[in-house]
Amino acid sequence: MFQNEPYTDFSVPTNRQAMEAALAKVRSEFGREYDLRIAGERFKTPDKLKSVNPSNPSETVGIHQKATPAMASSAIESAHSFFSEWSRTSAGERIAMLRRAAQILRSRKMEFDAWLVYEAGKPWAEAEADVSEAIDFCEYYALEMERLSDPQPLTQLPGERDEMRYLPLGVGVVIPPWNFPLAILAGMTVAALVTGNTVVLKPSSETPTIAAKFAELLLEAGFPERSFSLLTGSGSAIGDLLVQHPRTRFIAFTGSRDVGLRINELAAKHQPGQIWIKRVIAEMGGKDAIVVDADSDLDKAVEGVAVSAFGYQGQKCSACSRAIVDEKIYDQFLEKLQARVAGIRVGPADDPANYMGPVISESAQRSISTYIEVGKGEGRLITKGLSDNRNGYFIPPTVIADVKPSAKIFQEEIFGPVLAVSKAKDFEQAISMANDSQYGLTGAVYSNNPEHIRQARERFFVGNLYLNRKCTGAMVGAHPFGGFNLSGTDSKAGGPDYLLLFLQAKSIAEKVG
Ligand code: NAP
Repeated sequence: MFQNEPYTDFSVPTNRQAMEAALAKVRSEFGREYDLRIAGERFKTPDKLKSVNPSNPSETVGIHQKATPAMASSAIESAHSFFSEWSRTSAGERIAMLRRAAQILRSRKMEFDAWLVYEAGKPWAEAEADVSEAIDFCEYYALEMERLSDPQPLTQLPGERDEMRYLPLGVGVVIPPWNFPLAILAGMTVAALVTGNTVVLKPSSETPTIAAKFAELLLEAGFPERSFSLLTGSGSAIGDLLVQHPRTRFIAFTGSRDVGLRINELAAKHQPGQIWIKRVIAEMGGKDAIVVDADSDLDKAVEGVAVSAFGYQGQKCSACSRAIVDEKIYDQFLEKLQARVAGIRVGPADDPANYMGPVISESAQRSISTYIEVGKGEGRLITKGLSDNRNGYFIPPTVIADVKPSAKIFQEEIFGPVLAVSKAKDFEQAISMANDSQYGLTGAVYSNNPEHIRQARERFFVGNLYLNRKCTGAMVGAHPFGGFNLSGTDSKAGGPDYLLLFLQAKSIAEKVG
């Protein structure tokens, strides 16, 4: 029976001290250089990729290599040449490796938490949730693989033995984002590996150290050197080649809409020598809404909106970026929200007193600030800026009220701590406004009206709908995760359908008697 990994309670003094020790240990490793690894070979390149601490960008977290196109090509060829061997290892062996990986990660949890604090700017609790989710993915997919490696029930024709078994696909290119630099990277990678595929992992350029640490852990858990390569480097420099390579069988991608669409388009084009149609598993952006009904518990709704909008600085694909509120309670909601947001503390992520840390990079800071300027013209800014000048990439929690559905900040993914609040004349209009989006990832409704809850179940078009709770924080096993429309290919990470995306079924009928 699957159970989610419990979160460490940092209000317990011993846990807090252990986390402080982990932060100090990780700090002592700042600036270390990591190799790029293709199958069993380690490489250094003249051109380096430097990751920094977004709370203080003068600090270098890790120095990494930048893969060249020739290296990318060689990684795919190596993965292809090992596939026939790896695909024939028993599922039981692969499952055992994955369970060992979960166990090692559990035993080094706070160290990984600390890497997330420093390289991704995650506040402690957010880092802990990310690492816990990575453990969950390992345990859950191990269990799932047990289920799928058993013979699948079929109708037995008279005089035949009929069976169906699942086979891996081949070489998978895994491309994760920086915002869940461990959980999403680990989830996609281990799903591909435990099902018997070989992997070329191209991590985000913002968080390569976390990727390098997880890659070391997988080797320690027993995954063979040749089962996966770690190709750090720029997505724009090697991404197309990885996707287009004729030996690439599938691409598991999580990231922005535009990159996902490009991958989908390039993967669809048949290449000389390619003997399959590539599969694309793409999880993309969101513009998630919380609808607040006239009859709802307003304090709970304000709390749910605030944590969904500003947890991890709004940098979650599931983050609430639109609150759509019934006009009968609109002014009251805004007043309470304004007070709640004014109490949010922003500062370096390693200080647990800060609820919000920095955004990931200077370019993210710039792009979010531009949206805030646009938003000031599209609505009414009701929050304050930061009171002092800081080194890091900080952006205050920002609420813009009276935003119309035609506004840019209502339609476009900002991926930062910016919330648009809009007024609806009734519940029906609120749901229509929520659905007025090219995305369809998460959404929530706060309502005490059973008929409105029923309507939301039926009409709110999102992959993950939450009722009377926040729209972030999907749990593996309980909330299979993935969205509709341009939020992706409708896959569901952490759910019972997910591993099937990395497998193909073979039907075998044998004449007997
Ligand atoms: P991104 O800019 O699309 O990058 C994602 C990954 O794609 C990175 O590893 C990036 O590498 C790589 N990449 C860039 N150009 C590429 C190309 N031409 N070919 C192949 N790969 C390429 O997204 P992000 O900023 O990391 O992540 C934020 C986005 O992810 C948001 O839109 C968010 O909503 C979405 N997201 C969705 C989900 C979900 O489950 N639906 C979950 C988390 C995040 P480089 O870093 O080297 O450029």
